[in-house]
Amino acid sequence: MTPEGLSYPLGRTPSPGEAVQAAPGVLWLRMPLPMTLNHINVWALADGESWTLVDTGMQTTETAAAWQSAFSGVLCGRPVGRVICTHMHPDHIGMAGWLTRRFDCQLWITRLEYITCRMLAADTGREPPADALRFYRAAGWNEAAIEDYKARFGGFGKHIYALPDSFRRLTDGDEIEIGGRTWRAVIGRGHSPEHLCLHCPELALMISGDQVLPRITSNVSVFPTEPEADPLADWLASIGDVARRVPDDVLVLPSHNEPFKDLHARLSQLDAWHEEGLGRLREALRSPKRAIDVFDVMFRRPVGPSLLTFATGEALAHLNCLIHRRQVVREIDADGIAWYRAA
Ligand SMILES: [Zn+2]
Repeated sequence: MTPEGLSYPLGRTPSPGEAVQAAPGVLWLRMPLPMTLNHINVWALADGESWTLVDTGMQTTETAAAWQSAFSGVLCGRPVGRVICTHMHPDHIGMAGWLTRRFDCQLWITRLEYITCRMLAADTGREPPADALRFYRAAGWNEAAIEDYKARFGGFGKHIYALPDSFRRLTDGDEIEIGGRTWRAVIGRGHSPEHLCLHCPELALMISGDQVLPRITSNVSVFPTEPEADPLADWLASIGDVARRVPDDVLVLPSHNEPFKDLHARLSQLDAWHEEGLGRLREALRSPKRAIDVFDVMFRRPVGPSLLTFATGEALAHLNCLIHRRQVVREIDADGIAWYRAA
């Protein structure tokens, strides 16, 4: 999607180790990521004599080095008093355990994000479960793709420093005081189970995590642990909820790409993008198809092996949404393959 209509008022982007002031007492830092999406934005909020950090980067030696240089540089040697994570994906929570132990402070996070993270991290070292293999075979994966999945299984935990063994729970509507200002928790769903956004009316800022991104669409996927889930319905409901609760005048601080204005326009674009995808899918399912057969209807670029899990999860999110809307039906054939067709 083109970010048409959005504006990016800050003008410059911090290099690793640098910071750009997004608002009084709010610093924008960037941590490197070892993938095509090569960065994550994290935020340091001045909080008396210490910092409250929002998100932490993935566990890599490069991220640790970037934090080390930030501590003595742009963070002026002041300690971290609290770590807040928007959600449990490794690029956000990966260094939370390292930071909280180093500064002997607490992790603040929603309960479902904390518990889901512990659950997924515990997969590291386990055999790939039969449920997961059945799930991906049903989507149409061939045996080479299944073997590749088996080899990669458990990778989640490898990108996360051991999580803190306790946490401080945040829930929807909570008000947190940071540096004398009130930040309100706005929970979103669909990309992850209980994703935290933070809205500060006084500064007209919203830290949006992966719930609202300016240039890319967040992954909304079905995973083998809950094959019948309808995360796209959650996602679309959250788009409406954020639009109702957060005014359009905020500067949005997203986890990827640059801080932007025009939140409500972006939310409308995202809603339209998914609804159009659902419409194309409904058309395509006049003849029965497997999940892997709808990739070219849904995605503009070809899906290679490295994107297969994401693409399958996202295709299933749209297919399950149409099933829940009673517009598509699914039949499982004698080989365990799921075929979808318009109802
Ligand atoms: Zn994420």
